Amino acid sequence: MTTLKMVILGRQGSGKGTQSLRICEAYGCVHVSTGDMLRSAVEQGTELGRQASQTMEAGGLVSDETMNGIVAQRLSRRDIAERGVLLDGFPRTAEQANALERILYDLGERLTVAVNLEVPTKTVTERMLGRGRGDDTPEAIQRRLNLYEQQTTPLLQWFDSRSLLCTVDGVGTEDEVFARIRAVVSPAGR
Ligand code: ADP
Repeated sequence: MTTLKMVILGRQGSGKGTQSLRICEAYGCVHVSTGDMLRSAVEQGTELGRQASQTMEAGGLVSDETMNGIVAQRLSRRDIAERGVLLDGFPRTAEQANALERILYDLGERLTVAVNLEVPTKTVTERMLGRGRGDDTPEAIQRRLNLYEQQTTPLLQWFDSRSLLCTVDGVGTEDEVFARIRAVVSPAGR
């Protein structure tokens, strides 16, 4: 039986984190978040963490080479072969997407689907301002969203050209959004 190999894309504040947990619970796949992996490397003070921390603080992207290496290593572990994977935060560039295709191919696998959780900029801005976090000033939010736009637009095209892209309306209750995700994920692979 083939397992789910899925990517989730969405702006900050799109509800991607919440929905990721629900997807993994429902489909039994492993949640691989590159942001979480990097933060834990920083906390543990590993070589990777030392290299990545400045880039992360500045809101930049860790190099494709580093990220591709981390993900290749993680995806080669047995839990992924057994349970499948939900990738969150990777790929972030077309270069990473090409690497992901290659990594999966080498493992005898391929991507099932890429879900793009679509929430308008105006809505995510309101949600983030509502959280009241110190780093969530309107200017900082705008900067992060602009960066996301720049980085992600080519990726959406990359997935779309391979007929892997499913855009899901992320506005609604948690249950409503999750039902929409299920509707596109289930026919795609399970
Ligand atoms: P966000 O808060 O933007 O949703 P994440 O939690 O996914 O971000 O990641 C936090 C930080 O880790 C990013 O801002 C970036 O510096 C780095 N990072 C995570 N994933 C990647 C990736 N695939 N490529 C490059 N850098 C990454």
